[in-house]
Amino acid sequence: MARTDNEYLQGPYYEPDDEVSNVAYRLVTTRKKHECVSTAYGQSHEIDAGTRAIYQTGIHVDDGRVSCYLCLACAGRCLNEMEAL
Ligand SMILES: [Zn+2]
Repeated sequence: MARTDNEYLQGPYYEPDDEVSNVAYRLVTTRKKHECVSTAYGQSHEIDAGTRAIYQTGIHVDDGRVSCYLCLACAGRCLNEMEAL
């Protein structure tokens, strides 16, 4: 199911976490390969360079600035599940 950018940016894709604050999502086009942060839907997998993905940033209490990439396929499945609740 195709979604708009805004829908993708709604999230949230993760449970609220005491250790990570200032969580923000941005839609980006990757310039190189990145590991998708989600393994919830099977094997760990990569996001190809030049693919649109959700870039998540936050501030971890110990590690400082943290960031990760989530592919739109995983994001879409996550949103579908939330809507089904
Ligand atoms: Zn993924």
